Amino acid sequence: MPIGFHPSVEQYLETLYDLSEDGEIIIQARLAERLRHSAPTVSAVVKKLIQDGDITKSGRTIILTEQGLKRAQSVVRKHRLAERLLTDILGIEWYLVHEEAGLLEHVISDRVEQKIIEITGTPSTCPHGNPIPGLQGKRNTAEFRLIHGQEHKTYKLSRIGEILESDTQTLNLLYNWGITPSKNILLKSKTKSDDDTSQLLTVQTIKGINIINSKIAEQLWVI
Ligand SMILES: [Zn+2]
Repeated sequence: MPIGFHPSVEQYLETLYDLSEDGEIIIQARLAERLRHSAPTVSAVVKKLIQDGDITKSGRTIILTEQGLKRAQSVVRKHRLAERLLTDILGIEWYLVHEEAGLLEHVISDRVEQKIIEITGTPSTCPHGNPIPGLQGKRNTAEFRLIHGQEHKTYKLSRIGEILESDTQTLNLLYNWGITPSKNILLKSKTKSDDDTSQLLTVQTIKGINIINSKIAEQLWVI
C-alpha cells in the first residue's frame, strides 16, 4: 500500500473535484450532504486538508489549492480509468462500475495506471462521459443540464454527473431506457409534477418513451 494512503482524504479531494466540475460553490454543508458524513467529521477532515495545504477557505467557500487540485486529479483519473478497465476490458455494464472503481482507485499505482491507459487505448472520458483529467479529457463548454433543454429538441447526452453515478438503481433505469452517454435524447415535453415541486420531462430514445424527474434531469449533461 502506498505511503500516505488515506482513503477518506482522497475521497474528500475527489468529491471537491466533482463538485467544482459541476460548477457548484463548495461549502462544508455540501460536502457533508454528498459524502453523507456528519458535520463534525467533515470539519475534522477539512481542517486536515487545510493543514496539509490541499485546500484554502475564502469565507465559507472551499477552494482546492494547486497541490490539492493535482492530488484530486490523480484520484479522479484513477477512478475513471478503473471504470474504463471494468467496462472495456472486463465487459461489465457501465451502470455497474462506479462503486467497484471507487474501491480500486485507492490502490492503483502509477505503473498500473500507465498500463490501464495503454490497454484501454488512452481514453479521454470515463464510460459515463466524464473527462479523465490529464488525458486530454476536457469538459465540453457548450454542454448544459437537460432540465434546461427546450421541448421538441433532440440532444446528445455528453455525460452523467458524478452524483448520479453512485445511484446504481437510477443508472440501471437510464440504461434500460436508452439514456446512454453519446446517444440522442428527444425532449418531447416538460410538465410540472402534481405537487408542483419539480418538473417531469418526457423523453424519447431508440428504446422508447419515458418520464424522468428534475432531480435526474439535472444530472444529465447534454449538447
Ligand atoms: Zn464515470
